[in-house]
Amino acid sequence: MAEDLSWDAALLGAGAAVLAYDIGGTDTKAALFDSAGRMLGLSRTATPLRGARTGEAVLDLVEKIAAGFALDYPGVHPQAVGMVAPGIVDDGSGVGVRSSNLGWENVPFKALAESRLNLPASFSHDVRAAGEAEHRLGAAQPFRDVVVIVIGTGIAASIILDGRAHVAGGFAGEIGHSIVDPRGDLCPCGAAGCLETMASAGAIVRRYAQAAGRCSEPAPTDAKQVLALARAGDPHARRVWDEAVDALALVIEQLVSALAPEAIVIGGGLSQAGDALFVPLRDRVGALLSFHRPPRLLPARIGENAGLIGAALRARAAVEGPAATGVLPLKGTACP
Ligand SMILES: [Zn+2]
Repeated sequence: MAEDLSWDAALLGAGAAVLAYDIGGTDTKAALFDSAGRMLGLSRTATPLRGARTGEAVLDLVEKIAAGFALDYPGVHPQAVGMVAPGIVDDGSGVGVRSSNLGWENVPFKALAESRLNLPASFSHDVRAAGEAEHRLGAAQPFRDVVVIVIGTGIAASIILDGRAHVAGGFAGEIGHSIVDPRGDLCPCGAAGCLETMASAGAIVRRYAQAAGRCSEPAPTDAKQVLALARAGDPHARRVWDEAVDALALVIEQLVSALAPEAIVIGGGLSQAGDALFVPLRDRVGALLSFHRPPRLLPARIGENAGLIGAALRARAAVEGPAATGVLPLKGTACP
């Protein structure tokens, strides 16, 4: 069901009207942006998971939602479509290289959407697009060297170096699979002890359930509840939360050693924990660093629609070119 949310149109600014889709492992968000930058008809629909046919089913959904917007907003004529999704995505060619959650491999989404909708299209990585939105319009805006980390079901980062997105054929920024404990839990990626197995929202819930066993009644279903238990003095919750913050601090220290960003912006559901996350995280990152330039650790500003806003920015770039919209030019190599 479509809903209109208040959105500061001045933030996105005037430009081409575009369709934007944020295709997630569970839900697909969609909105129409008009030429003033207003977000219209924001909707959330279950992503059609059809195994090997998921890519095609997603494109069917994209087409159906576009037809709905045409009926609901006959005065708005989108000139491009922007789609974002998780996994390994080659932003340059618009190919979904691989997504373990969505089950596709080498699907040329950009080309397929262009032929179905008869509009220029872009297909990009959700977290890189969210990072671009934060860099153009949000908390990362003042910085040329900045990493935007999104912590939700998974963990990934958008790496911006010298003002440009670092893509590396779609393989950059997969910090959720940085190993923080080689003897840790097995990760669905096949490695053991990845950051995601300790510090993603799902890992925090799972690790608490393992630690508390039958002591936990009723079992928490999200990381916020685990945090509330930690604050209330539950020792299992405290330990799980502390280990998640430690793991995140370790990966941030490694990012700082390798890239020396001026700031690290953290978004996604877990960033809404506010001071409960940022205060201990600043302390622990500070304790791990020696001669390094300490980055500013900042909460993301755009919020849960950053991926969708990023999709809209990339759709506009598909019409107007990067220079016209100020969208970050992509750096890196394309996949073969
Ligand atoms: Zn992994």
